[in-house]
Order: sequence, then C-alpha cells, then structure tokens
Amino acid sequence: MKKFASLFLLILWSSIAVAQGLSDKEKEILNRVDANHAEALQFLETNVNINSGTMNFDGVRMVGENYMEAYDKLGFETSWISQDEVNRAGHFFAEQQGSQGKKLLLIGHLDTVFEEDSPFQEYEVLNDSVAAGPGVNDMKAGNVMILYALKALKEAGAIPDAQIIVALTGDEEKAGSPISKSRKDLVEAAKRSDVALGFETASGFSYATVARRASYSWKLEVTGKQAHSSGIFSENTGAGSAYEASRILNRFYEELQEENLTYNVGVIIGGNEVDYDDETIRGTVSGKTNIVPKKTIAHGGIRFLTQEQGDRAFQKMKGIANENLPQTSAKITFYEGGYPPMEPTEGNMQLLEILSEASRDMGLGKVEAYDPAKRGAADISFVANYVDGLDGLGAMGRGAHSPQETINLDTYKELTKRAALLIYRLTQK
Ligand SMILES: [Zn+2]
Repeated sequence: MKKFASLFLLILWSSIAVAQGLSDKEKEILNRVDANHAEALQFLETNVNINSGTMNFDGVRMVGENYMEAYDKLGFETSWISQDEVNRAGHFFAEQQGSQGKKLLLIGHLDTVFEEDSPFQEYEVLNDSVAAGPGVNDMKAGNVMILYALKALKEAGAIPDAQIIVALTGDEEKAGSPISKSRKDLVEAAKRSDVALGFETASGFSYATVARRASYSWKLEVTGKQAHSSGIFSENTGAGSAYEASRILNRFYEELQEENLTYNVGVIIGGNEVDYDDETIRGTVSGKTNIVPKKTIAHGGIRFLTQEQGDRAFQKMKGIANENLPQTSAKITFYEGGYPPMEPTEGNMQLLEILSEASRDMGLGKVEAYDPAKRGAADISFVANYVDGLDGLGAMGRGAHSPQETINLDTYKELTKRAALLIYRLTQK
C-alpha cells in the first residue's frame, strides 16, 4: 500500500512538473508578442517586397539594413560582414553581450532563391490565414520571428544579461565558395555560444528539427580500353568503361540502401572522347557504335545522417569501384566541400524537450523530432559540431522555392511566442 501511495505521488508530481504553467514574466513576454504582432507583419511585408535573391547583392544588403536599424533600436551591437571575397552580398550580425544562462546563436538568412528576373516578387495576403510572397516562408518570416521574439523579451526586461548573437547570412541558398570563408563568421559565433536555434521553415506546428543530413558530392571516373567493338568481352579488349560504370552504379543501388542514406547520380556521360566540367556540371561526348568506350563519368550527391554512416558508405563505394571488370579501372572521389551532418545528439534532444515543455505550458501540445530524411541541409549544419542545436523553429507555410510559396498566418503569432519563451527559458538555465 505504501509502495502504491508513493508511486501515485510520483505520478502526481511528474504531471505537475510537466504542466508548470507560465510565470508572470513569461506571460508578460507573450503579451508583448501580441502587442507587436501587427508591426511584425508589416515588417515582414516590407522585407518580402524587397527582392533579395542571393545574387542580387543590393537587395540582400537593403534587407540587411532594415534589420540593422531594427536591432540598433533594440540596443544590439550590429555589423555587416562583407563577402566580396567569395562574390556574395555579405552577412548581417547583431549581438548583445551578457553572461546569464545559455549563450545563444539565432540563425536566419536574408537571401531567397528568387532572383530579380523571377516573375514572383510581391507579398500578397490571399485570405485571413495565408499570405504569398517570394521567400516569405524560406525564410523571411523566420527572420522576423527572431526579431520580434527578441523585441518582446527586451520590452519585458527578460534578457538584460544574456549573450545573444543573431546571424542572418546573405547566401544560404547559394553559399559563397569556399565554405571555409563564407561560413567562417558563423562558425566563430558558434564557438562562443552554447546553443544554436535555426528559424528555417517549420515542418508543422508539433515538430522541430534535431538532425539534418550531410550533403556531399562524389564523382566516379571509369576508364576502359578503346578498341573495336567486335572484340568486346574478349580477354584483350575487356568490358569497356560503360559496362564497368553500369556495374558499379548498379551495385551501389543494390547494396548500399539503408535508412537516412541516399545517393543520387545527377549526371552520367560516357563514350570515347569525354570532356566534362565539374563546376558547371556540363560536358560533351563523342563515340561510335562500333568502338568500345574509353571513358565514363558519373557525378552525383550523397546525403547521410552521421559522419560514421557517411564514412561507411564512402568505404563501401570505394570497395565496389575497385572490383573492376576486365581491362577497366575506376576511381571514385568524394568532395567534402558540402554540408556536414547535424547529428541527433543527446544535447539536441534536450533542447527539443525544453521547447516541448514550453509548448505544453502554453497549451499548444508537445513538440516532436521531425524525420531528418525529409529535410535538406541548412546553415545550422555548419555549427552542429560546436553547439547543441534545434532548427525548423520558423514559420509554417507551403511551397518554399516555388512561385506558390506561402506562409500560414494563423500559427505565426503562436510560433513567435513559443520561440520567445524558448529563448527566455534557455537564458534562465
Ligand atoms: Zn532557408
């Protein structure tokens, strides 16, 4: 009986712990989000109506200037980081110094995939619940969410001594090369932080992203012996580069498939004379139906969840490429210039739990981890090695990267409040 009673008490205690509710300070923060919401939507519209396609440097800078003005008003130290060196517009950073609680890095991007020649240029409210616009969801509304969450926190006097860095990159959709230069400032900010929060578009009201897959590229170069086709398969002529490339790719297809690992052949080109450019992903080829082809190139991408999974796949692909058919040879190269993985670490899961608890305390239900296989890589991937991270905290919407891109206005205010509450609670830990 005693055992039963203590078990009952434990259950009661844990349900109280789960629904601890909101403190007066937290209620004040959420009220400030309410009070500023119309202004936030106006700021969103203003910024969506400025074209900031990645290669429209003036437009990216103009959106950056709007943020600079807004963060200056909030009392943050602001800076524009030129990216002339990598032929991009630059990044906007804002920082408040402090020492209380977790040190936070809040990540957004100023650019969109819609360049100046796109027909999709304007913000348009379609009805009470939906607005359309280029980059409205990916991720201008996310940037606005960061600003108005922080504005509410500042107005409520809730974060007087917290270190917060806001990083809005200017080239997320088409990062400047090399990455070591274009992401240097982001990585340095992460090294001074404990937690990174990414405000890329939300995958639903009840989901956040604790992991993102890495994205690398690979190139397979196969060489065969040029000879008259009548001799193909003979000891002297062998299989030719086309059969050998087919063998390798087919074995990739048959033997590598596993959860969270995908690998795509983007381009394949083969024949006798092959001229292929990795950068532009274009080539020319010539051959004859009666010549065994000398050269075949396949160029593709590979995505994986953990470095261990990636390394294992690289090894297996190399092994398959080395078991050559007669009179052929093959070489596979992996290019690590892409996005590293954001692995589903314990620390990331703890952040998700804090978000989920904040959500329940607001009466919005729990938040769960989104399937990483369904999300692409993002800027948070570059800092995942240095901090705990959570992404997908931005606005909900549809059709990112398409002319049908929209934002869901019904959930936007609640998501902004939830983000503000998450930021606040992290600065109290
Ligand atoms: Zn984005």
